[in-house]
Amino acid sequence: MLSVSAKPVPITELKGVGTALALKLERLGLETIQDLLLHLPLRYQDRTRVLPIGSLRPGDEGVIVGHIAASDITYGRRKALMCRVQDGTGSITLRFFHFSAAQKNSLAQGKRIRCFGEARPGPASLEMVHPEYKVIADEGSVRVDDALTPVYPLTEGLTQGRIRGLVEQALGWLDKGIVEDLLPDNLRQQWQLPELTESIRYLHQPPVAADQEQMLEGKHPAQQRLAFEELLAHHLSLLKIRQKVQEQGAPLLKATGKLSLPFIASLPFELTQAQRRVAREVARDMTLPVPMLRLVQGDVGSGKTVVAALAAIQALENGAQAAVMAPTEILAEQHYNNFSAWLEPLGVSVAWLAGKVKGKQRARELERIANGEAQLAVGTHALFQEEVRFHNLAVVVVDEQHRFGVHQRLSLREKGCNGEQTPHQLIMTATPIPRTLTMSAYADLDCSIIDELPPGRTPVNTVVIADGRRDEVIARVRSACSEGRQAYWVCTLIEESEALQCQAAEVTAESLRETLPELRIGLVHGRLKAAEKAQIMASFKAAELDLLVATTVIEVGVDVPNASLMIIENPERLGLAQLHQLRGRVGRGSVESFCVLMYHAPLSQQGRERLAVMRESTDGFRIAEKDLELRGPGEVLGTRQTGMMQFRIADLQRDAHLLPRVKRAAADIEQAPALMDALIRRWLGQGEAYARV
Ligand code: ADP
Ligand code: MG
Repeated sequence: MLSVSAKPVPITELKGVGTALALKLERLGLETIQDLLLHLPLRYQDRTRVLPIGSLRPGDEGVIVGHIAASDITYGRRKALMCRVQDGTGSITLRFFHFSAAQKNSLAQGKRIRCFGEARPGPASLEMVHPEYKVIADEGSVRVDDALTPVYPLTEGLTQGRIRGLVEQALGWLDKGIVEDLLPDNLRQQWQLPELTESIRYLHQPPVAADQEQMLEGKHPAQQRLAFEELLAHHLSLLKIRQKVQEQGAPLLKATGKLSLPFIASLPFELTQAQRRVAREVARDMTLPVPMLRLVQGDVGSGKTVVAALAAIQALENGAQAAVMAPTEILAEQHYNNFSAWLEPLGVSVAWLAGKVKGKQRARELERIANGEAQLAVGTHALFQEEVRFHNLAVVVVDEQHRFGVHQRLSLREKGCNGEQTPHQLIMTATPIPRTLTMSAYADLDCSIIDELPPGRTPVNTVVIADGRRDEVIARVRSACSEGRQAYWVCTLIEESEALQCQAAEVTAESLRETLPELRIGLVHGRLKAAEKAQIMASFKAAELDLLVATTVIEVGVDVPNASLMIIENPERLGLAQLHQLRGRVGRGSVESFCVLMYHAPLSQQGRERLAVMRESTDGFRIAEKDLELRGPGEVLGTRQTGMMQFRIADLQRDAHLLPRVKRAAADIEQAPALMDALIRRWLGQGEAYARV
């Protein structure tokens, strides 16, 4: 169906592209002529008309034509050649810091020149610094371009002139049909998408009349056409991963109720409607012989852990194993404690595996996992290292998926491969993800949302205060604790270094101990030994400590209902999702809770907006949307995910309105493997993720 002409053509086929230039182009991700054709200009210059000098405003860029009224070398702070150019409507100064004698001579008084440059305010009048120029005939009309001039993203050692020349050559290849329109006709017609080659040509050489503003915003139909196709290709690449997984069979797990019913009965609370609904969706997936690929989203405290437990239990009910993986040791340990407490009374044996489980204990846990004695294994990614062999793994639950990228998702599955069958996968996010991101970054997963909090939660009151008022904040901690409540004091630091973070927390704890001698103050950070950490957490939980100073390690996991005050230092350094996650540590009991965001002044405009969002909302979904709006998808998904989210043309925010259509189109195209592959190849090349599938 696809013609041979649509094959990728190496960029070295262009005249003048040797090894050295090819390497530079590769740095821009350009390996084929097709890639170059999809390398779109950042903006355009207008050289299609001559601007009257008198009309120029600072910042205007364009062509002027005039006579040189004066040409002098000045010796101010820097030697410069200054030419005064007039055209009858006004005058402007050209300033050259670098010039040869020949240049000086050619720019003599009385000569007529054409210049292109940007007008900037100078000491006396508007100036153009180092404009492009050409001395032209004294009389006669002036030649101008008939298309806008593209300005491309560059890399070191590559000039605009060079790349423009290459693109011009590439457009010749475009005429030979090397970029085939892959979108089915009906789809193109339905959404009135312009033709592909036309769109590409238009964007490299827009006509004089093109709406430049629209193009700068990326909203021109030609750009939207390409953005649509790019989003579609990304979407398809994820669907392809999904297809590959689902080609492998999965164990069929019946929900017998043998363990789940006593488990639910043992809980000190009733499941919420939302928990029930999502648990049902998960349970149904696992009764099919196709691997489940489901994402569970829910706000902090919505009770995702119980849903995870129910998924694991369904495997156990069928005599198979389950694994529960968390991204940090603290969180994994908390799960281990929870799951053991829940399931051991029901006769389930739980194994524990993390980096710090070593020596004999590790060997024993590995053996219990391998021989099936342990029905459930809880741990960090240590669970999926080479040495770990499962007896009959049927379900994998990954908590706080946020921190794992799609690559981990893949390796995880490889790990789980067990003879003929692939385990079911349940992925839980730490915090909600905006819908548009779910639609694009998690297109390979079905999505369930726990959209209800357990009853009896009181929303946390959030206050934003400058750290100049630290004394007031400390007084507040004192009074809360004197009333028998407990508080967290969270230290943040820009540095990635955990050592520095811990040091900062130590210093803070020390100074708080001095200021608040009557309080029992504990300190936890990532560098403490697990046993120490556990002991401090346990004493805080047992109310033997009033105040817990901590780094962001407590972001996830800790559950102390009596803690009703949280101070976060320098909240402006954290993402909104992380702040929301931290704040979720309070407001777990029935007393009114407070979160004090103690920022370091001055805040940027964006910083102010972000903290205002935290003050005004406790809805994780809304906060996530806001975070996306303010900081973009890379920040919201975490850097690990961004590899998947780098687009050449599309912009998830700008083009979010295309996503529902992308999703529908992808569902159709998924049925046409050759087309699907061609689209993926065009936009994503042979990315590592796909090679591994
Ligand atoms: P998250 O969704 O943030 O992972 P957890 O699963 O840790 O939330 O649950 C938060 C707290 O709420 C835990 O103490 C848990 O025992 C409790 N919880 C979970 N479900 C319910 C419920 N239906 N009713 C009351 N409390 C619940
Ligand atoms: Mg959780």
